[in-house]
Amino acid sequence: MFENRPNRESEVVLVGRSNVGKSTLMRQLTGHRFDTGGKPGVTRSPNHYDWAPEDFMITDLPGFGFMSGVAEEQREAIKDDIVHYLEEYADNFLVGVVVVDGKSVIDIIDRHSGPDSIPYDVEMFHFLQELGVPTVVAVNKMDKVDDKDERLNDLCDRLGLYPPWKQWQDTIAPISAKQGRIDPFEQAVRSILHDHKRDDLLKFF
Ligand code: GDP
Repeated sequence: MFENRPNRESEVVLVGRSNVGKSTLMRQLTGHRFDTGGKPGVTRSPNHYDWAPEDFMITDLPGFGFMSGVAEEQREAIKDDIVHYLEEYADNFLVGVVVVDGKSVIDIIDRHSGPDSIPYDVEMFHFLQELGVPTVVAVNKMDKVDDKDERLNDLCDRLGLYPPWKQWQDTIAPISAKQGRIDPFEQAVRSILHDHKRDDLLKFF
């Protein structure tokens, strides 16, 4: 999990369940073409994208959640690896990104909420915040969502952010990665970078 990490000081890190469109968003960001096909979840190690000579990279962590053909223990192992990676490199993260599927995220959160369980997306959001990492929720596949405002307000509610979502434009970024509509995400990241005096990195977003 940690072996291939390039030695870069500053990092933007993406987490999310499998199939939310993380690879599609990464492709939009990096311009790289890389494989999104094949078996989801087989990628157990992070994908790092760096640009010499910049001391910066974007890291796509393995997808978490249901994956056909992947056993429960392996899923838990992937999750542990992700948590360890986030803890280990928290000081390097300028922005943490939780990518969710706007169409299904509320149902999934509600289905996984219980007295003893916190849904993965909510857990990752709070975990990044606990680590002191400015966090953006990229709400993808918005092209499939009709009641956009209602959905995003519900998401705020589930994340513990007071609705309406429009007050959280540095945090909640509705996008459609497949259609190349990622402007709200790029704006949110740019705003955080600017606030942290990293205008040198704005060119990447
Ligand atoms: P990953 O497992 O999170 O890396 O997800 P992928 O990037 O492989 O995408 C999973 C599926 O969602 C693919 O079929 C994509 O074409 C599709 N997808 C990704 N982004 C969008 C989007 O913005 N809108 C819609 N409708 N589908 C998308």
